[in-house]
Amino acid sequence: MSILFSPAQIGTLQLRNRLVMTPMHLGYSPKGEVNDQLVEFYRARARGGVGLIVVGGCGIDRIGNAFGMIQLDDDRFIPGLRRLVHAVQAEGAKIASQLYQAGRYAHSVPNGQPSVAPSPIASRLTGQIPVELTEEKIAEIIESFANAAIRAQTAGFDGVEILASAGYLISQFLSPLTNQRTDRYGGDLEARMTFGIEVIEAVRVAVGTDYPIIVRVAGNDFMPGSHTNTESRAFCQALEKAGVNAINVTGGWHETPVPQLTMNVPPGAYAYLAHGIKQAVSIPVIACNRINTPGLAEEILQEGKADFIGMARPLLADPELPNKAMSGHPEQIRPCIGCNQGCLDNVFRLKPVSCLVNAEAGQEAVLAPSSHSQITENILVIGAGAAGMEFARVSTGRGHKVTIWEESERSGGQLALAAAPPGRKDFLYFGNYLANACLELGVTIQYNVKATPETILSAVEEGKFDRVVIATGARPITPSIPLEGRVEVLQAWDVLAGCRKTGQNIIIVGGGAVGVETALLLAESGTLDNETLRFLMLQHAETEKELYRLITQASKKITVLEMVKGIGRDIGPSTRWSMLADLKRHKIKCLDETTVLDVRSDGVLVESAGSQKILLADTVIFAVGSYSQNELYLALQGKIEYLSIIGDAAKPRKALDAIHEAYSEAIKF
Ligand code: SF4
Repeated sequence: MSILFSPAQIGTLQLRNRLVMTPMHLGYSPKGEVNDQLVEFYRARARGGVGLIVVGGCGIDRIGNAFGMIQLDDDRFIPGLRRLVHAVQAEGAKIASQLYQAGRYAHSVPNGQPSVAPSPIASRLTGQIPVELTEEKIAEIIESFANAAIRAQTAGFDGVEILASAGYLISQFLSPLTNQRTDRYGGDLEARMTFGIEVIEAVRVAVGTDYPIIVRVAGNDFMPGSHTNTESRAFCQALEKAGVNAINVTGGWHETPVPQLTMNVPPGAYAYLAHGIKQAVSIPVIACNRINTPGLAEEILQEGKADFIGMARPLLADPELPNKAMSGHPEQIRPCIGCNQGCLDNVFRLKPVSCLVNAEAGQEAVLAPSSHSQITENILVIGAGAAGMEFARVSTGRGHKVTIWEESERSGGQLALAAAPPGRKDFLYFGNYLANACLELGVTIQYNVKATPETILSAVEEGKFDRVVIATGARPITPSIPLEGRVEVLQAWDVLAGCRKTGQNIIIVGGGAVGVETALLLAESGTLDNETLRFLMLQHAETEKELYRLITQASKKITVLEMVKGIGRDIGPSTRWSMLADLKRHKIKCLDETTVLDVRSDGVLVESAGSQKILLADTVIFAVGSYSQNELYLALQGKIEYLSIIGDAAKPRKALDAIHEAYSEAIKF
């Protein structure tokens, strides 16, 4: 019997199940308003079966908000909010709004005024120093929280969530790192809790005794010198006393050096933080962060670590996740892979959120994906990579009959390469999903079929196919660098595909994402595996320092060379910083603004800052980009009436672009 899909309660709020869609910054509301895009986005998630949707953050004022955020700072927003609430409730889900004040995380440029904080401590997120709040201004902000809660209640929201995590304003008051006040809001832990508790008390007075209030806390700030789970428990106990109905437990701050949401965070890694809080309070606790499958969610509930499960990105990736799980088909769920390409990276770039694996995310108001095509076509797709399979999946869903000719013996194309480096295996799950979806829909995938212009033309002329789509992907570039001698020369793609013919002294030419990932893969091979690490730790067999050395350093010496300034510049901002930290951890030497002139028998000749030198190496690996494999398309142009090219075959780029292009092509006819 599933706990996840059993009814439950938060305060007076009855929920159909224990799955909560946690707040997610979407950037869909340029003027703070509710619009069709937002309504249809959330309607789809409510229809998908989730129990409670927490929307937001919702700005309580204009000095602590962010780009594209829903606003709760003025009564004029209430009619729009009411429309959103009705759309969600009509689908059987409940809806709460998250009250958001970013403090020193707010940026002064869009807001037109400096950000505020307990103390004037610079924010690493914005690079700005906030203005220290006066007691008078603190009282104003508390009032803004209360007024925003009243507006939410008036609009019909079933509850509110108050944001006290991730380094936002209430966190800033809680932490000794950012609160150095000497008045009643600063000092020991109890004094630092004062602001947060006063916010809760004001909101409680504003909304009455029965209205559900949730507070989102950091289970550990993961900031040296700031709160751990111990202090967080004390705060949660104070919250319970102040009348809070549930605690939503997330991980650390946005400034923390510990990754929270990237693909390398093990699924469910931070459920222990929720468990710590659950042991200290008697109100329901919500666990979240990288809990991306119903199976894992169920396990966490079964183990008693939490009472509810929070998911955000998995529901961006597949709004139907709850329904699919409840109907006994979890294998049909389109998985969130933690890539952040469409979501968090877009937030950092002040762009509306989308999703790599779900081209419909954020487009629900304008797309009618399930609508059938007027006619049924027989379509031949060349290539069973991600773009080819996504095209086939969507086209078949629209009523067409699709056959894929795949040159190799497996599907997935470059997804297998993307999944090879440490902490990137989730890419494979997406490949598996696409392959399963194609299989279930009846797409015919023929493997080991070498397509030529002649075989394609003759199949079309015989009337087997009405349309041909070329999705043949890309190939790695071999640079025109003179090669001589006995040094082993490889392509990064070969290494990622499993070739380990490397020596001990390796130079990787190209410091983009592929070069960085190849370096990390090679650096990790030969280090202590997880099982041995656990065993040695349990036995106290080695010191902590020695274990760290053993998991970060193997025998290979690796150098990454990049022609332009900066390493990993094509990696998304939410992931790049942690990969650069991994390079450092593994002692991988990175030289940017360094050009390779030639490859010699003992290494490579490079030029940097006007001078030349030889870097010794026994293996040289090229990671200098890729080119479109478009020969078939060029040969068939003008010979087949309905011919198109998608994905990397059209232009090498990020997986998100290839998937979205395949989707767009598939809904054209
Ligand atoms: Fe998940 Fe990537 Fe989609 Fe974001 S873009 S929801 S991380 S799959």
